[in-house]
Amino acid sequence: FLPRLVAAMEGVEETYIMIKPDGVQRGLVGEIISRFEKKGFLLKGLKLFQCPKELAEEHYKDLKDKSFYPKLIGYITSGPVVCMAWEGVGVVASARKLIGATNPLQAEPGTIRGDLAVQTGRNVVHGSDSPENGHREIALWFKESELCQWVPAQAPWLME
Ligand code: UDP
Ligand code: MG
Repeated sequence: FLPRLVAAMEGVEETYIMIKPDGVQRGLVGEIISRFEKKGFLLKGLKLFQCPKELAEEHYKDLKDKSFYPKLIGYITSGPVVCMAWEGVGVVASARKLIGATNPLQAEPGTIRGDLAVQTGRNVVHGSDSPENGHREIALWFKESELCQWVPAQAPWLME
């Protein structure tokens, strides 16, 4: 009955979190995954992936008129990224809080960017900005077969 309980829970969302190439190159993969894992969100998908240019362009299509867009596409495709799908009640906004402000110098200490980065152009991690974009981005980066529906053993100890 637990899977049904979880699926029916009000406010359950999914968000696409990605460790950008600088996070991978700097050896921060474990540290960053650990923050979401320890918080208590549910990991549904995880892979190391070399992003093709077309996918980066689709992912960031809302920013295509910005001056930094070409550099952003170059950055995201410059090396492997770690793609993750996380699920939970209120996970979209909560993950954005864990990540911190876009400019790492303005991000609060205790956030991923606040603790681990110094520049907007090297801000180590991405997180979806709305539940709609959470669905859109997970569908964009993952095949259905790469996502797991499961109930972790800790579930009854995490939520009453
Ligand atoms: N970005 C940049 N320069 C800017 C603004 C954004 O290089 O002036 C990059 C940065 O990597 C950022 C990404 O573009 O994370 C997407 O921008 P957005 O405003 O969506 O920030 P986010 O949602 O990642 O905090
Ligand atoms: Mg954004």
